[in-house]
Amino acid sequence: GDGHINTTPKTFVVNSPNVVYTDEEIRSKYTYRTTLCTVEGDNYVAVPKETVYDFKVDRKVPKTGMMLVGWGGNNGTTVTAGILANKHKYSWATKEGTQEANYYGSVIMGSTIKLGITAKGKDVNVPFHNVLPMVHPNDLVIGGWDISGLPLDKAMDRAKVLQPTMKELLREEMSKMAPLPSIYYPDFIAANQENRADNVLPGSKACMEHVEQIRKDIREFKAANGLDKIIVLWTANTERYADLIDGVNDTADNLLKSIEAGHEEVSPSTIFAVACILEGTPFINGSPQNTFVPGAIELAERHGAFIGGDDFKSGQTKMKSALTDFLINAGIKLTSIASYNHLGNNDGYNLSSQKQFRSKEISKSNVVDDMVAANSVLYKEGEHPDHTVVIKYMPAVGDDKRALDEYYAEIFCGGHQTISLFNVCEDSLLASPLIIDLVVITEMMTRIQWKAAEGGAVAEKDFKHFHSVLSVLSYMLKAPLTPPGTPVVNALAKQRAALTNIFRACVGLEPESDMTLEHKLF
Ligand code: NAD
Repeated sequence: GDGHINTTPKTFVVNSPNVVYTDEEIRSKYTYRTTLCTVEGDNYVAVPKETVYDFKVDRKVPKTGMMLVGWGGNNGTTVTAGILANKHKYSWATKEGTQEANYYGSVIMGSTIKLGITAKGKDVNVPFHNVLPMVHPNDLVIGGWDISGLPLDKAMDRAKVLQPTMKELLREEMSKMAPLPSIYYPDFIAANQENRADNVLPGSKACMEHVEQIRKDIREFKAANGLDKIIVLWTANTERYADLIDGVNDTADNLLKSIEAGHEEVSPSTIFAVACILEGTPFINGSPQNTFVPGAIELAERHGAFIGGDDFKSGQTKMKSALTDFLINAGIKLTSIASYNHLGNNDGYNLSSQKQFRSKEISKSNVVDDMVAANSVLYKEGEHPDHTVVIKYMPAVGDDKRALDEYYAEIFCGGHQTISLFNVCEDSLLASPLIIDLVVITEMMTRIQWKAAEGGAVAEKDFKHFHSVLSVLSYMLKAPLTPPGTPVVNALAKQRAALTNIFRACVGLEPESDMTLEHKLF
């Protein structure tokens, strides 16, 4: 019956001839429907196309470690404190009353997807976390590196993000956590960061010893905590861009040679990426710099290792990728976006240096391109809205970044619409749940395999993983990295649809079309 359907179940099984559950696996046969377009004369001809895939999901949820580069920073300490507070079900006093730990802001932990409808046509929604057998963030074992050696209790004080009452609950546990020494090549981050660099490995340029040390750290952390799997994520300072030089970082082999030769254009983040790739550990970049030089991407493909990036999409850009999508799809011609930020945390301090700001400017700049290019009614070939991004360091506002945006658009017959946004982004509280999503989704992607089913039985050996570059993480990222030669999607709604529909396909469910014909036909 229909009665309690919205209040009771939170989990589901799929009953379909195309879906088989075993103790170890979920198997699904899924028909992917696309439309192939060709030009004939002055017409497109659109032909519906079907490809049948077999998907296989490993149901065993591994004991997973999350290692953060920049663990002692604002994001690193905030996400650690938040996970521990959730794990222990802590609550604390605030001026507004008692606050309980939660996972708000995480798409996996805080949102639902529509599973289907009841016989009476009522929507049934289930937590996103229950669509596939995903790791629960409470179960993540957390560790990492920082060039600052402060233990995590003191580092969380330095961050000035969390309520004192919350911190007191966590202080003892976090005082026992201290970052591993990290790689510091001073030229890559702002000179103003030098004072905190008291926990560094010997050597100030690229070398294989650094790669080997990071690999060793990963293995030791895994063994010490009895882990099945580790995901590494960069939430350290924004680095300057590395110059792309033929013969240096253009191919996997050249990159490895450049590390051996101590070339000055190999960044610490690229060293971490290379170490993880060689170790078969997924690596995600939450900062804007070009960690994934072409040679690093080729190396990941060669080793079938997963990588993802770049730059968390938390505040201003998340609004931008939702608002621009909405305006342009509403047929309104956006003609300029002016974006200002001021912030007073260590990220802002680092970004007050020109080369590091430049990395951020690049990653913030291309985020409307796909939406503009998709609308040939409003924009001529090559035409683009004006777009500028300014960031200023203002110590007083701390981690509560101000993002001020003006969207200026052309409307009907010469009119204008001006939208002014004032967005106070408590930066680390927005970024922390994204870190959780990135880690949980990446881990899940390591357990999904596929095979194109051209009829007949599926040979076990034919199953493959997804491409090394996990573009399915795009929703959480400002400048999504995609497999070489494939398009970037920035539109927020499309990114979420891709994520939910790929997960649905793994359990043999059709994409949610939102047609709701059952309510529209007579
Ligand atoms: P933060 O400065 O507080 O933390 C960065 C930490 O990295 C510091 O503790 C620093 O000591 C450490 N570090 C620097 N170089 C290192 C290295 N080579 N190895 C190990 N540790 C190193 O900054 P944050 O606010 O936590 O932000 C972290 C990163 O995330 C920044 O690059 C920022 O641009 C990016 N980011 C943040 C947000 C957000 O907070 N909403 C959004 C998008 C991107």
